[in-house]
Amino acid sequence: MDSHFQYEKSFKSRPHVVLMGAGASVATIPNGDKNGMKTSVMDGFIEKLGMSEIIANLNLETSSDNLEDIYAEIASKAEYEDVRNTLDESIRDYFSAFEIPDEPTVYDYLLLSLREKDLVATFNWDPLLIQAYQRVSKLTNKLPDLAFLHGNVLVGYCLNHKHGGKLDNDCPECGKRFSPSRLLYPISQKNYNDDPFTSDNWKALKNYLSRAYLVTIFGYSAPKTDVEAIDLLKGAWGNIDTRNMEDFEFIDIQNEDALIATWDKFVHTHHYTYTTSFFESSLAKYPRRTTEDLFDRTQNCHWTSSVNPFTQNMTFSDLQNIVTNLVLEEEENKDGFITLPNA
Ligand SMILES: [Zn+2]
Repeated sequence: MDSHFQYEKSFKSRPHVVLMGAGASVATIPNGDKNGMKTSVMDGFIEKLGMSEIIANLNLETSSDNLEDIYAEIASKAEYEDVRNTLDESIRDYFSAFEIPDEPTVYDYLLLSLREKDLVATFNWDPLLIQAYQRVSKLTNKLPDLAFLHGNVLVGYCLNHKHGGKLDNDCPECGKRFSPSRLLYPISQKNYNDDPFTSDNWKALKNYLSRAYLVTIFGYSAPKTDVEAIDLLKGAWGNIDTRNMEDFEFIDIQNEDALIATWDKFVHTHHYTYTTSFFESSLAKYPRRTTEDLFDRTQNCHWTSSVNPFTQNMTFSDLQNIVTNLVLEEEENKDGFITLPNA
């Protein structure tokens, strides 16, 4: 094989990493879940949980109604351990109730738009991504890896063996029912290494990020308080001066300048794309071909055009038709690489 072939192949087979925050779940159920329930931001969340009265009776310094601020203070005071446990339980109950709507959601599209070489890493506790994963795996098993960076209400793991999965499953090694994953909060000191499950999920993210050709940040603005998360990401991503391809993509409804300001340690000023809609992102325009598109556009100087885009209001049968053809093409080219048509 000539070296150019190997060069092109190595780029195109590198991972696409999607990192998601609360905004991604909001985009997934814009009109609420199957039963009309809407996801909430951290402000005003305590009231939604019905915890206002309990919190009001505590002697807290913060006057904020933001969960992050309140939780940080409760967690730092030993006398509030019971309150913290009650709060944990109500958060778990609240998120466990979410059910994905019957028709395809942004999470279904997202999972189908990536391949086995790729990773979806989420900070979200809600079960929507896993519910989407279960049903799209009936369309194909060639799906991306998942990582849960703050735990998840539907994820469990075995405390004795390195196995994790859906909460109602058993450990394949000892046969015991999985234990619920710990939920981590967006506060400064999270101790990601306190349990093996969380630490493995972060290890996976770091590993994928260090090899990634393309990174999409979906509905997640790097919060200033989340120092530990940002440091970990920064360490995995490395020096921005060695990352000079056009390799960062943002999907966010937040104002572009404000958003980019929170990511300035990661992104070259001009080397990113920004869109407010998933359907305008590389994922929807080039499903399962995002790294091919990036390479062909920037290194082969092709005018790539979107042949099989995912568009809004598709049915599962529409998605199945597109994905089946794409997976077939992947199988046929598994020893080489795919080149997108030059329009
Ligand atoms: Zn086990």
